[in-house]
Amino acid sequence: MNEFGLIQKIRKAAFLNHSEVLTGIGDDCAVVKSPRMNHVLLLTVDQVVEGVHFLAGTHFSKVGRKALARSISDIAAMGGIPKYALLSLGLPKGISPKSVDQFYLGFLELAHPYSVDLIGGDISKSLKGFFASVTVIGEAPQKEVILRKGAREGDFLFVTGRLGGSLLNHHLTFRPRINEARWLAHAHIPSAMIDISDGLMGDLGHILDESKVGAYLYLNQIPISKSALQISKGDSHKALKKALWDGEDYELLFASPLKDKKWVEKFKTKFKVDLSCIGEIVRGAPKICVKDEKGKTKELSKKGFSHF
Ligand code: ADP
Ligand code: MG
Repeated sequence: MNEFGLIQKIRKAAFLNHSEVLTGIGDDCAVVKSPRMNHVLLLTVDQVVEGVHFLAGTHFSKVGRKALARSISDIAAMGGIPKYALLSLGLPKGISPKSVDQFYLGFLELAHPYSVDLIGGDISKSLKGFFASVTVIGEAPQKEVILRKGAREGDFLFVTGRLGGSLLNHHLTFRPRINEARWLAHAHIPSAMIDISDGLMGDLGHILDESKVGAYLYLNQIPISKSALQISKGDSHKALKKALWDGEDYELLFASPLKDKKWVEKFKTKFKVDLSCIGEIVRGAPKICVKDEKGKTKELSKKGFSHF
């Protein structure tokens, strides 16, 4: 079973009753008309599972922080701001009250600077391992919402930050790119956007599938993180592979039709965050192409990190 194949199956089977649902399954968040004029609600849910998203022994405050950060990152991917959260906990037998305290304190510590209000949740016992599921509800002006499906031939591809090797530390400490995404969305810069949770290749694949276009990547422009280099012991080819396929970077990947790139410098000065132009959108099937060492164009696998 393949995670993305299963999502497509569920998506086909799900029937929408309500016309105020503007986007259902298939994007970083669902988009629903808001009672507030010219605004939409953004809804997303994500889990952290012991042994999958964190290893036993990780300080629980970091796990709580990550649990919320993953969902906030999906709100950023739509160009929205997060507002409310619901938290479900699965507690294994014997977990110490202190660990649970650390978890929600880590969660609340991140909720505070993002002005996210924890407004509900649920608690169950778990037969094996700890897990948490976090729903976040956010908001955006309707005209500023960015979907995965808006990329068009001729758009350039951009990515924030540096990629790969997230497992060293970044997956627990990353800062969801809400301010950066709001700035981009408000300036109508991106035509399509996603946050990189499944790996650059996998998540670019999602933009391409939804937009029905292909991409050409500039391999020598992919921003490789220090961690990716460190894990690869300086082997730059290995590090590049990590930047392309590792999951959990939680950076923004977006397409933009703007040929004048003056805004790139403005962005970098304002946020002190890297922003790299890593390729362009091309016509045709949702494939990702690169030039090999001999200058020949070839297709790269778009398989990202799948849970199966
Ligand atoms: P992300 O990595 O941005 O959280 P996912 O790959 O988890 O996105 O999900 C992609 C889309 O599929 C989203 O719209 C999500 O809500 C939907 N989805 C994922 N799992 C399920 C499920 N079990 N039932 C219904 N929709 C799902
Ligand atoms: Mg996402």
